[in-house]
Amino acid sequence: MLSETIAAISTAVGEGGIAVIRVSGPEAISEVAQLFRSKTPLTEAATHTVHYGFIIDPASGEKAEEVLVTLMRAPRSFTTEDVVEISTHGGVVSVQRVMDLLLQQKIRLAEPGEFTKRAFLNGRIDLSQAEAVIDLIRSKSNKAFSIALKQVEGSLSGKIRLLRQTLLEALAHIEVNIDYPEHDVESLTAEFIKDKTGLVMSEIDSLLRTAEQGKILREGITTAIVGRPNVGKSSLLNSLAHDNKAIVTDIPGTTRDVIEEYITLNHIPLKLLDTAGIRETMDVVERIGVERSRNAVTEADLILLVVNASEPLHPDEIELLEQIRGRQLIVIMNKMDLPSQVDREVLSRYVADDLIVPMSVKDDQGVNDLENAISKLFFSGKLESGDLTYVSNVRHIALLKKAKQSLQDAYEAADMLVPIDMIQIDVRLAWEQLGEIVGDTAHDALIDQIFSQFCLGK
Ligand code: GDP
Ligand code: ZN
Repeated sequence: MLSETIAAISTAVGEGGIAVIRVSGPEAISEVAQLFRSKTPLTEAATHTVHYGFIIDPASGEKAEEVLVTLMRAPRSFTTEDVVEISTHGGVVSVQRVMDLLLQQKIRLAEPGEFTKRAFLNGRIDLSQAEAVIDLIRSKSNKAFSIALKQVEGSLSGKIRLLRQTLLEALAHIEVNIDYPEHDVESLTAEFIKDKTGLVMSEIDSLLRTAEQGKILREGITTAIVGRPNVGKSSLLNSLAHDNKAIVTDIPGTTRDVIEEYITLNHIPLKLLDTAGIRETMDVVERIGVERSRNAVTEADLILLVVNASEPLHPDEIELLEQIRGRQLIVIMNKMDLPSQVDREVLSRYVADDLIVPMSVKDDQGVNDLENAISKLFFSGKLESGDLTYVSNVRHIALLKKAKQSLQDAYEAADMLVPIDMIQIDVRLAWEQLGEIVGDTAHDALIDQIFSQFCLGK
């Protein structure tokens, strides 16, 4: 119920400098005020002000915690409700103590995503913006972050609204035609509908074209670093991870101890596969060799094959090259600081010249060339940086495809001068499908499902 007042710890779990508890709802101010002792009583304080004071345990009357309280009165807050944010010392114990005291008041623990859900239900943000908040929290690279941020600000919503407006015009036209059929504007209307649906379809197409890039930017390019023992895989990984702030996520429940590691190269996030194997200090030939490479290779979007440039190609490497023919492949000729022995001619039979990258990991040479090669492979050389309306959410992509199909049906029907009320059904369907993206026509179940993906406190 929106009339309830909710609270949750909004900062990450664990130790930090400070932790923030967010309280939202009609009773937020009055209930917190009962526990809070400060110079100005909270109930009398102006909106958007910060107050120093103490949380008091009402049972003992003792000070429980020294805090800063920020007050935001409705509707000028994230949820549009009265919001109180309590900053406590960062330790788990002190936050939890304040939280416990709050929950003894007329305040209940918020569900995951409930703050954002309220912002949505109160009309502060639309559904695609709410989903972008999830993306923001999870984003793995600067680029992904700015895309999500743009979406929070509503760039996708804005485009979708324009398209729906266009369809609405078409629908209005149809309506008039159905109401006054004697005007004999049937064929004119058909042309009008073809115009409008054609326009919207091509706009949808260009949004869908951004989807592939959006997916990459959001989830990262799944990348396998493979090669024979001692060519420099671990060194490369360490060097990339060191310079590019690796985010390591442990995925429990998998049989192998697979570690996913994210790095960003030139704003492109790479999700490195099977780094556990590569990271091993003792390189066990048979495990790290061809067998292990094979597993990682099948999953990868991008294969980085490292060879030792100071040695001739090995039969294992030729075999691997044969196997991965046709895949997205970059060959790294490592150890270029040593006299070169590798046969570039042979390599050229398997990979284009600009996808063979000479490097010396030891001397930190060639990382830029590697970045460029990856950009070339996945973004035809350039990453669009101006227009960041990348559609990257699977739900949005599916709806765009559905809407396009409905419009296609409408277009063809109009072309064959099918009775206008039949066409109307398809145009209306497309209009609804686009509406689902921004949440104007979304069902409760879908909305619940989306917000359940949030973590607590968001
Ligand atoms: P891996 O078995 O493929 O993971 O290879 P490592 O990263 O463990 O490297 C094997 C050896 O090659 C180590 O002694 C590294 O210091 C060395 N090495 C790595 N990169 C270079 C390089 O660019 N030049 C030279 N000369 N040695 C390198
Ligand atoms: Zn290694």
